[in-house]
Order: sequence, then C-alpha cells, then structure tokens
Amino acid sequence: MSSAKLTINLESLVQNWRALNALSSTQTGAVVKADGYGLGADIVGRALLREGVQSFFVATALEGKTLRDALGGGPNIYVFSGHMEGDTGAIRNGALTPMLNSTNQLLRHLETLPGHLFGIQLDTGMNRLGMEPNEWFAVRDIAIGQRPALIISHLACADIADHPMNISQLETFQMMTNGLDIPRSLAATGGILLGKAYHFEMTRPGIGLYGGMPFADTLPVVSLDLPIIQVRNVLSGETVGYGNSWFATCDSKIATVSGGYADGIIRAMGPNTSLYAGDTACPIVGRISMDLITADITNLSETPDSLQLLGKRQTVETVASAAGTIGYEILTSLGQRYYRSIIE
Ligand SMILES: *Cc1c(COP(=O)(O)O)cnc(C)c1O
Repeated sequence: MSSAKLTINLESLVQNWRALNALSSTQTGAVVKADGYGLGADIVGRALLREGVQSFFVATALEGKTLRDALGGGPNIYVFSGHMEGDTGAIRNGALTPMLNSTNQLLRHLETLPGHLFGIQLDTGMNRLGMEPNEWFAVRDIAIGQRPALIISHLACADIADHPMNISQLETFQMMTNGLDIPRSLAATGGILLGKAYHFEMTRPGIGLYGGMPFADTLPVVSLDLPIIQVRNVLSGETVGYGNSWFATCDSKIATVSGGYADGIIRAMGPNTSLYAGDTACPIVGRISMDLITADITNLSETPDSLQLLGKRQTVETVASAAGTIGYEILTSLGQRYYRSIIE
C-alpha cells in the first residue's frame, strides 16, 4: 500500500489517562479538541468513555456537536469558546455546556437558551479567554444565580513547575471563586503535575493523554510508518530533490518514501531528522516535498518495506524540536491521508 500508516494505540492512551487520573486528587476529564489532538475525537472519545471519563472538553461548538453524535447522550461536553452567535443550534442539539467568556456571551446564553447548561471561564492573567476580575464581579451574582455547572481558568506557564505565574494565577482564581458552591477546574496536563492545590473539583488533561510533554511518564500513542516506494543508487556528486539542496559525497543508496508536508510532516524538520529502519537512523536528505521524502539508506544491509518517523526510536517531542515547534503542533498537523490503524 502506498499510503503511510498511522498507528493509534488506544491502550497507551487509556493508560496515560489512568496515570494522570492517579495523579489528580479529584475527578479527571479529557480534552479532545482539534479532533482529539489530530488522532480522531470520536475514536479517542469512545475509548475514554469506556474507561469511565464523564467530562470532555472541545474548542468549538461544532466540534462539540460532532463529539456528541459519536459519544451519545451520557457524558458532559464543555466548549472552551463559549456561546458565539451562530452556535446556539449546536449547543442546544448537542446538549453542550458552553464555557461563557464574557458578559456578552452570558447575556446571549441566558436569552437564547434559558435554563440550558453553561459554565464560566475566568481570566486569571493569561489574557486569552475568560472574564477578568472586574467584569466577573459585576455579573457574578447573576451568573451564580443561574447555577453554572463548572468554573474554569487556564494556566499560562504550567509546563514550568517553579514559574511564579502559577501561584499568581492560583491566587487570582481563588480570589475570584472562593466561597462559591460551584465545581472548579484550573489544571490541564501541566497543572496536574503542580500538585493538589491546583486540582480543585476537576482536572482536564490534553497533551499528556496523547504522548506529549510536560508529562514525562506519558506513553507514546502514535507511530508513523512511511512505505518505501522506490530505491536508487546515487553516485557521488549527484543531487537529490528540489533545489538540489543535498548532494552525495559518496556513492549512496536513497529511498523515496510516501509522506510529505501535506501529511503534516513539517518541511523545516528535514535537515535535522532521520527515519528509522529498526534501530538504524536513515537521515532525511534533500527537501521534504508535498507527498514524498528521500532518506539515505546506504548503511542498511537490506531494504525494509517502510521507514519509521514516529515510534519507539523517535517521539513526537524529538520530531517537534527538530521542526522548531512543540508536540501539540506535530500531533494536530497529522494529515487526513494516512491509513489509520487502531490498536484497541
Ligand atoms: C488545550 C487546553 C487544555 C488542555 O491542555 P494540555 O496542555 O493539552 O493538557 C485545557 N484547558 C484549556 C482551556 C485548553 O485550551
């Protein structure tokens, strides 16, 4: 088969959730935005639902509606972007819980869907989403009177354990919410690792479920194998690929594999990345193109069927640093063209 194969190990995903759940001193949800960090929100969501996860988080109402159709009526689905104009139908039909970010959203929600579930998102210093203290205190009594299901805020620097921003945001969150009889959530993956004070009534890990840092004990969830389409001998002095950016300094054997930047294999990683044949590194040579990558397999005694980009020898994080980015972007860039194989 010429399609590259993306293997998604749901057993590892579930084990990662269990590990983060064990570290959480409270209820543990799961963030499945961006189509489950690129792995398929329906597949990831169903596996976690079977494990007993009751609270899922997505970025947009349409994502939430799609997830509801996949998961059925049981679990809670929270929407970080809140209640935007045009989202009312999805929120109603998907029985979603929008995390309201502003007075505007609060009014829109109470007017268009009175009595429908909602939560509140507060800004405790990140300045991205949520109500700031002044705005919150102005509408707090009205909001609390309508019984929000959950109040959340998000940490800007939780991946750096001793960053002073963490304690500052924790104190602001407490100042804005202490004394309210409403469940609260502050910690994503990084926040779970900061300890009990950050856990409140629910934690909501994302990246740690999918094999990414800062959760150091996370198990890899994806592997990516690129089939070799063709192998050729390249003589010393000949070039490979667009722009002649690589030339052979000795007679070499070059494999052309299926997969490229259209599949989310970020072009910039090329010069710093190898594909693996078992334990042997085969450096990527020449430019990564849209559908193809060329790698130097001169050192292999036998030509395998495929070379591996992600797997035992190379994690999402390794590839991310080679591309000058983070694991989140590697995962969410994974394309739609892969043959996807699921390990239950
Ligand atoms: C993405 C996101 C999360 C999950 O964060 P991870 O670092 O992936 O664990 C939690 N809360 C909010 C508001 C988010 O945007």
